Formats: sequence, C-alpha cells, structure tokens
Amino acid sequence: MPLTEFALIERFFRDCGAVRCDVPLGVGDDAALLETPPGTQLVAAVDTLVEGVHFPPGSPPESIGHRALAVNLSDIAAMGARPAWVLLSLTLPRADEAWLSGFAAGLSRLARAHDVALVGGDTTRGPLSVTIQVLGHVPAGTALLRSGGSAGDVLFVSGTPGDAAAGLALEQGRLRVDSEPAAGYLRDRFRFPEPRLALGERLREFASACIDVSDGLLGDAGKLAAASGCGARLELSALPVSDALLRAVGASRARELALTGGDDYELCFAVPQSRVAALQQTLPPREWGYARIGVLREGQGVQVYDADAVIDISHSGFDHFGGAATPSPAD
Ligand code: ADP
Ligand code: MG
Repeated sequence: MPLTEFALIERFFRDCGAVRCDVPLGVGDDAALLETPPGTQLVAAVDTLVEGVHFPPGSPPESIGHRALAVNLSDIAAMGARPAWVLLSLTLPRADEAWLSGFAAGLSRLARAHDVALVGGDTTRGPLSVTIQVLGHVPAGTALLRSGGSAGDVLFVSGTPGDAAAGLALEQGRLRVDSEPAAGYLRDRFRFPEPRLALGERLREFASACIDVSDGLLGDAGKLAAASGCGARLELSALPVSDALLRAVGASRARELALTGGDDYELCFAVPQSRVAALQQTLPPREWGYARIGVLREGQGVQVYDADAVIDISHSGFDHFGGAATPSPAD
C-alpha cells in the first residue's frame, strides 16, 4: 500500500536531524515555534536542488539529502553564523520508501553532526526537487559580509577547490581516472561536501569579508572583491589543489578547475594585513585547512598571476570536459 503523505512525514521526517531545546514546537502543527537567543540576529538562507539541473538523475539519495543541506549550511558558514533549524520542501515523483529512507539518512546525519533540527516543511508530488531553508543566528552586528574587505587585505581559501567539479565530471562520465582511490575521493567531494561551519564562526575574529565558493573560486572571489569595492590579485602557484585532482587531470587543468570549477562549498575570505599573524597563530592553516591565495587591491576585477605575468582565463562558460557543466544551486 502506498504511503500517505501524513505517514511519510511521520516516518521519515518527524525525527530527522538533531533534537534541540529551542524548538518548543516542530514538525506536526501548522508552523514551527523557535526560540532565538537574546542578543543575536536571525540568519536565513534557502537553496533548491533540481534533479537533472543540480545533480545527475539517479544520484544516490543519501548524497541528495546531504548536499541539499550542505549547500545551505555553507551559506550560513560564510556569514560566520551558527545554524540551528531547517525547513524542507520536497517534491517527489512517487513515495519510494527506499529512496526516502536514504535521503532522510543523508540529511539527518549531516544535520546531527552540526546540531541542526528539522522543524517543518512541505511535501508535494512532481519532478524531483529539494528546497531547504536554513535558519541560524549570529551575535548581533558581527556577521561576516561580502562587502567588508579593503585594498591590502589578504585573501584565503579553505580546502582544495576544483575537486567537486572533477567529481561531477566523473559521475557524468565526462572524465575517466585510472586510480580508483583518487576517483572515489573526487566523487565524494561532489556527493558529500563538508560545510566549513567551525571555520566560519572562528573567522568572525579575523576576517573582514567572506563568501562561500559555490560557482568557482575566480567568480566568487570576484563577487567578494566587487562587493568590497576592490579588485583582487590571485597567485596561480598558491592555489591549493588535492593530490587526487593532480593525479586525475594533471597540474595545469587542476589549477584551472580550482579557479573555475563549481560545487566546492569552501570559504574564501579576506583578512586585514594586521590580523594575518594572529589568524595563522590561532587557527594554524594546516590544521584548519586553508591557504593564502592573493590580495584585495585597488581597482576592479580579478587577475590571476603566474609569477609576474597575468594569465588569461575566461570567467564564464569554461568548458572543462567537453560537456555542459551542472550549474550550482545559486543558478
Ligand atoms: P499544512 O497543510 O498545514 O501545510 P502539511 O500536511 O503540509 O500541513 O504538513 C504537516 C506538518 O508536517 C507541518 O508541521 C509541516 O511543517 C510538516 N512537514 C510536511 N512536509 C515535511 C517535510 N518534507 N519535512 C519536514 N516536515 C514536513
Ligand atoms: Mg503544507
């Protein structure tokens, strides 16, 4: 017998994610009631993932549940905020129990890892699409904005951008890699991105501006620079690339992907020169997984330098593997 909508919600979503004491009323009534801590601002973000647009048809349901939450948590991380609650709007072609159970498991595992509660949502029938809204908080007036940077600030990026774009290309059969461990690592970087929440919160002490990297580092660093009224200079040789990506595509393509691939969900942030030593002492780069990649400077646009020469990289529509890339949820 097919599941009713009520039974589906009870079974898969009533106990999904963390249990929090600031949720007097969660799933089950007409709306949720939430208690925000005094002295904080509410931080809200929403993103939609559509099958065939933001993830390949037939993707593992655990990955869809994880990614739908991760892309939203990444926006909260970029604000220097702490997530608390999420709402899930799910459009499904049919009530497939095996799919729902994998989806809810992927979502719940990541939500619990970050102490996030699922407090409500909506369930409808139609082509597969997942919308998650995340709510969190930040001490009033301390959120990290894209617009806070100044010329002279040092630019950093977390993680190893480019991996997820190669992972997606592997999923779609546009890339082949003979090393199975490298291929598995890259695939997982697309399927299970880790939002940099702990880093984002700590950066409130040091960063002047921050953005999460979802559409490619070059474009997103450009958005931060533009919002801050600056240009930026990035150093090609400073881009952190993973061994797996190097092995999969070679050094030159790895750097290209690090600059223009999407779906990384890392943080790109600016730190005033005067705070760089304190940042690196308090949050050692190796331990926290970030690297210095350039500077904000007077002017407009982002230039990438190889030693002292500016290199030419087209910002948009870069065709990495001869097939259409999947746009990020921002598109
Ligand atoms: P309404 O018609 O009032 O919108 P629904 O039947 O859509 O009520 O939802 C009933 C309850 O289940 C609400 O508390 C709603 O937030 C919750 N809910 C519905 N779908 C989901 C979902 N996919 N995930 C989490 N909670 C959900
Ligand atoms: Mg409803």
